[in-house]
Amino acid sequence: MNQKSFIPPHRTLMGPGPSDVSERVLKAMARPTIGHLDPIFIQMMDEIKKLLQYAFQTNNELTFAVSAPGMAGMECCFANLVEPDDKVIIAKNGFFGERMKENVERFGGIPIVIDDDWGNKVDLNKIEEALKEHPDTKIIASVHAETSTGALTDPQSITKLAHDYGCLSIVDTVTGLAGVPLMVDDWNIDAIYSGTQKCLSASPGLSPISFSEAAKEKIKNRKSKVKSWFLDLNLIMSYWEGEGGRSYHHTAPINALYGLHEALLILKEEGLENSWKRHKDNHLLLKQGLEKLNIGFLVNEEDRLPQLNAIYIPEGVNDLETRQKLLNDFNLEIGAGLGVLAGKVWRIGLMGQSSNKINIEHCLSSLSKAI
Ligand SMILES: *Cc1c(COP(=O)(O)O)cnc(C)c1O
Repeated sequence: MNQKSFIPPHRTLMGPGPSDVSERVLKAMARPTIGHLDPIFIQMMDEIKKLLQYAFQTNNELTFAVSAPGMAGMECCFANLVEPDDKVIIAKNGFFGERMKENVERFGGIPIVIDDDWGNKVDLNKIEEALKEHPDTKIIASVHAETSTGALTDPQSITKLAHDYGCLSIVDTVTGLAGVPLMVDDWNIDAIYSGTQKCLSASPGLSPISFSEAAKEKIKNRKSKVKSWFLDLNLIMSYWEGEGGRSYHHTAPINALYGLHEALLILKEEGLENSWKRHKDNHLLLKQGLEKLNIGFLVNEEDRLPQLNAIYIPEGVNDLETRQKLLNDFNLEIGAGLGVLAGKVWRIGLMGQSSNKINIEHCLSSLSKAI
């Protein structure tokens, strides 16, 4: 055996996630590991909670990071809020809506999928029709920022509709958080989950979530136990919220949480509104450059996410070869198309630390050489 330490290359990450992680966050993660019940660590967890409340713009007590990636945040919402035979309307306009459906089914609920074409935004009228047809619906789930297409959906009006019909609202903002405006309390969202590796630019593997009082009530009054032990919020609440000492639930990913703490601090220093504006401005800069290369966008201008740009692969250009060339010759990662968009689009992420002018110039010049 002649194995050596693994030294990864320096890539520029402009795909659908992970995004570039700053030196500051990497350094924070390299600090000494301490015990997860150490009072100093618990103090840091409390700070993370406050910083997450800022990022989500919420006062929800039940706000913390699930010790697993964004998909676990999704699963946590559905595992806790869906009871057997609950009807759940899913506003699906891309890849992640399909996964929501899977989750509802696995937790014994009845999914009612409202389909919109990939790349379009969600049609509220169709959701309202479904609500009229199924007045016993319990939950409406939607994806704020569909990473598979780059389409922005308006969780505020979906949540309002949900409440008008006595439903709770679950929102996926894995790619949305810190990249586009989001006000969890003002918009009255009941359950929301995100990820660390998109616009927060921390390392992958954690999922910030937040639950309203109404959502907490539903969880506390469940007739059946949550079917996942690890994600059962009744158990986790005492761990994250537990006043006067935390009891053991699982060993927290200590160093990953140092990284999240630092990334959230960077966001706080920049300011949420400034972060939203930076993502928007840099998107416009990329768009200008792409127009010069005659490359068009999948999504209508008014529904576009600044942090995820799905662009048509120019005619006659080989998808895989070009992406390989970008990676090997320019150390640049961009994303392939998913599902029905495979081979048709590329996805250029401008998320978090990756959303900067140097990256955009690097991307445009590399693309122009590679195609
Ligand atoms: C990335 C992503 C997820 C999953 O997050 P992971 O950290 O990869 O598990 C879920 N929903 C959306 C919209 C995403 O973009």
